[in-house]
Amino acid sequence: MAPIILMGPQLPKTPSMLVKPESDISWIYGIKEALARTPNGVGLAAPQIGINEQVAYIWTHRKYGYFIINPEIVWASPQHVLGIEGCLSYPGLTGSVSRSRAISVNYYDENWIKHNIRTEGLEARIIQHEMDHFSAICQIAKD
Ligand SMILES: [Zn+2]
Repeated sequence: MAPIILMGPQLPKTPSMLVKPESDISWIYGIKEALARTPNGVGLAAPQIGINEQVAYIWTHRKYGYFIINPEIVWASPQHVLGIEGCLSYPGLTGSVSRSRAISVNYYDENWIKHNIRTEGLEARIIQHEMDHFSAICQIAKD
């Protein structure tokens, strides 16, 4: 079972490392399991379970989910939108955050297949939020 995730002040303070293709990534399923144990989480990044590598699980509307490994935003709409966000590492805290309305993202899945998606709305917001964790940033928290 993955470690508990409610660890805001203990989140890594340094940028997350890229995952090496030859490395054992069986631990990534701990991200998905930890997220599934939350009542309403829609995304979780590896640093939130104490592993400072660039993996997150995106679970838009908790309907369909997928891992993003070593994601890179290759295009972002100049138009930004405000939206209320929460973070599983900061229970009870919410904040209004400006995000690009739409993004194009390259990432690898757990089978090291490269993908590109262009998405907008909630899914784009979740991806941008989780990728902030790779930069040791959570925009709703000021610690
Ligand atoms: Zn977060």
